Amino acid sequence: MNSYRIAAVPGDGIGKEVIAAGVEVLQALAERDGGFKLDVETFDWGSDYYKKHGVMMPENGRETLKSFDSIYFGAVGAPDVPDHITLWGLRLAICQPFDQYANVRPTRILPGIEGPLRNVAAKDLDWVIVRENSEGEYAGQGGRSHRGLPEEVATEVSIFTRAGVTRIMRFAFEIARSRPRKLLTVVTKSNAQRHGMVMWDEIAAEVAQDYPDVTWDKMLVDAMTMRMTLKPQTLDTIVATNLHADILSDLAAALAGSLGIAPTANINPERKFPSMFEPIHGSAFDITGKGIANPVGTFWTATMMLEHLGEKPAAECLMRAIERVTADPSLHTPDLGGQATTRQVTDAVIAAIHGDNA
Ligand code: NAD
Ligand code: MN
Repeated sequence: MNSYRIAAVPGDGIGKEVIAAGVEVLQALAERDGGFKLDVETFDWGSDYYKKHGVMMPENGRETLKSFDSIYFGAVGAPDVPDHITLWGLRLAICQPFDQYANVRPTRILPGIEGPLRNVAAKDLDWVIVRENSEGEYAGQGGRSHRGLPEEVATEVSIFTRAGVTRIMRFAFEIARSRPRKLLTVVTKSNAQRHGMVMWDEIAAEVAQDYPDVTWDKMLVDAMTMRMTLKPQTLDTIVATNLHADILSDLAAALAGSLGIAPTANINPERKFPSMFEPIHGSAFDITGKGIANPVGTFWTATMMLEHLGEKPAAECLMRAIERVTADPSLHTPDLGGQATTRQVTDAVIAAIHGDNA
């Protein structure tokens, strides 16, 4: 029997609530399936740990995580700890050294959920956004500001490498190829940004030659926001830089109904290091402790983790359970306009898993 070691890192705020729910659901799946075993170890790293120890995770934290098959991550962020400490001290401190350069963000309007767009039905919106997750505008190098001078100048440096762009482009073409429509849109801003973005366009055209079965086109990022809202059915797989995809994927989550539903995977495609799976949302301290956080994004994230581990039937079983639950408005949490609690949604998903006989 396959057995997997999962490191659960709930982090802060509702991260703790949704990851606890997610672990319950994963255990229910393993029990029902009987074909695999999950060994979940939970780490109490995050802002509370920081307040006690002065660091977000212990010095050997990364070394500890290295031996796990996957990381199941909640969120970071606390009202009384600066965001750059929580973000760089835990989330990026895992993503970067584990070379999780491909960030994958599926978006669909799930059954029973209404998106904000009047003329868009569920079948019109089914995307996968691939975000370059290791360089570009968030490379964190070379920028500076000359503070305090009357002629103050601040620079941000984007770094694009041929190797980095080529590997994310190949990854995106592979995803596009694996989906029924085999359609890829490459997003840039090459009319205004003449170096990195022009290189993106060039490399896209080069890589495309190896994927004659994939239809692809190019889009400028500003025009892309219009196409996403006005003609969502013309899009399928989308690849964009770190910054552009960050913005576009929040838009995508909103168009699909709620940030609380949206999942993401930080993948190291070479499988040299563990990949990390997390909901897109943050620690949401405005609703922490109320028991009303929507756990659906965290459950959807778990389907991506199971698929990555090679447990496709379990991933599909979980997705069916999620869709049965979202289809019932009495099981919608307040972010979706309902009154259900995290507990009720979790119990309903577990019941649907046990009742699944596909
Ligand atoms: P947020 O995603 O935490 O919350 C935005 C809004 O959406 C809030 O009103 C929140 O209540 C709601 N929301 C989010 N997830 C929800 C869920 N599962 N169910 C119901 N409602 C949900 O973003 P924010 O408020 O801008 O940031 C709060 C903190 O989280 C900040 O410290 C920020 O830096 C951090 N953050 C972390 C991550 C991450 O860890 N990946 C991502 C985004 C923000
Ligand atoms: Mn973001």
